[in-house]
Amino acid sequence: MKNEKKTGLKKRVGEILKVLRKTYPDAHCELDHSSPLELLVATILSAQCTDKRVNLVTPKLFAKYPKAIDYAEAELHELEEDIRSTGFFRNKAKNIQSACRAIVEKFQGRFPDTMEELVQLDGVGRKTANVILGTAFNKNEGVVVDTHVIRLSNLLELTQHKDPVKIEQDLMKLIPQEDWSLFSHLIVWHGRRRCSARKPDCLNCELAGLCPVPAQGKSVSRQRLKEKSDRELKKTEKNRI
Ligand code: SF4
Repeated sequence: MKNEKKTGLKKRVGEILKVLRKTYPDAHCELDHSSPLELLVATILSAQCTDKRVNLVTPKLFAKYPKAIDYAEAELHELEEDIRSTGFFRNKAKNIQSACRAIVEKFQGRFPDTMEELVQLDGVGRKTANVILGTAFNKNEGVVVDTHVIRLSNLLELTQHKDPVKIEQDLMKLIPQEDWSLFSHLIVWHGRRRCSARKPDCLNCELAGLCPVPAQGKSVSRQRLKEKSDRELKKTEKNRI
């Protein structure tokens, strides 16, 4: 917020986390999967595609290709057809196959579980690696910065940057490491359920008193929003005792 010092910002981030934890106690990765390999494939498929659409495609796909070697040895054309409805299917099929070939050949079938190894796979950048490390291996090595995190981190003024790498660096300084993975899930859930890009529901938003957007004087008074947020925080504290 305007003229906010770093300690004030850290405190506000802590409050944002408290409220979101209370609001979305079940926040998790919404891509259906039951193994790191399935999560890798689902995450590659989710580029420019909704999780819902990916979840429609993956049950059949995972049954047809249960292991990395199955993707590695698949007919590329057939794999393309299997994932066609997720869009950009040629590129995605190529990346899935190439990543799986690397798992089979370079890692002898072992699924890589470090940032250094994961980013060596085709189609896997820092964002995808963070998704896999945080969700499949419970390792907080970074913060997943997707479109929701980019948008909400800026709206909430947790960063001044638009570049995902710089945003991630800012967030890592503000959020306790054990919450890095959870933070992304919470923000994505909030972005999907309350603060959509098209129509942020500031009037009913649980973060209204902690967010600069309504405080800049739009539809509801700042005081009313602050009171609402204080009530949310008190409820959170009460439930924790
Ligand atoms: S107050 Fe509005 S802009 Fe801020 S997080 Fe909530 S919905 Fe989004």
